[in-house]
Amino acid sequence: MATRYVRVCTPEGKIHYGILQINRTVKVLDAPPWLQGQPTELELEPDRYRLLAPCSPSKVVAIGKNYVAHATEMGSVVPPEPLLFLKPPSAIVANGDPILYPPQSHRVDYEGELALVIGDRCTDCTPEEAAHKIWGYTIANDVTARDLQKASLGPWARAKGFDSFCPLGPWLVRELPTGATLQTFLNDNPTAVQQTSIDQMVYPPDVLVSYISQIMTLIPGDLVLTGTPEGVGPVTVGDRVRIEIEGIGSLENTVISRKSPKA
Ligand code: MG
Repeated sequence: MATRYVRVCTPEGKIHYGILQINRTVKVLDAPPWLQGQPTELELEPDRYRLLAPCSPSKVVAIGKNYVAHATEMGSVVPPEPLLFLKPPSAIVANGDPILYPPQSHRVDYEGELALVIGDRCTDCTPEEAAHKIWGYTIANDVTARDLQKASLGPWARAKGFDSFCPLGPWLVRELPTGATLQTFLNDNPTAVQQTSIDQMVYPPDVLVSYISQIMTLIPGDLVLTGTPEGVGPVTVGDRVRIEIEGIGSLENTVISRKSPKA
């Protein structure tokens, strides 16, 4: 099994990066692994930590319509250049945390995606250089209020930016199998609602990171969501969404209702 890099919180509220061992203990590192964090003497038993999202980025850069079949199902075509948008880091939640269904929306969709974590400062990189700036991989759910997205021609900040709309995790791995499978499941249905090979992406990870770096500097710990394949669909309160990527694991979150704002 690939080494699993985690970020954890102790009962005292201390946050650490670490390596998840087979026996579920966490070997604590003295810094994020992409900043050359080294193992310390500290090892946390399973009852001494809670898994957080595996990184804490300065920004989340996401890509729209990066699989042909998904662009088609959205009634459009793959854009001539990568389509970028930003999700606020405040939208990030961990594996197992709830997705909060906001009262402003009546159509919230899951979007299973491969996420890239940047390990090194990246400005104006070629794809070859960018490939070496990608430190690791995890799973993301680019949760989207589809009705709000369609209602506005403008930026997607509201539709994509609600608290909890970026489940992430459960951990990072450094390498993926070639053509790894991405699947999304709803509740106990054994049939995947989304299934693709990640090599079906139109713009692959190195090209995306190169493209983004010609606009904005990516810094260590930043996150790139690489787009969702076909099969997006709605969730309702009570649904469990599980996204699996071969070589990483699975990310599962349950949808609950977000309280209406006070009148
Ligand atoms: Mg998406």
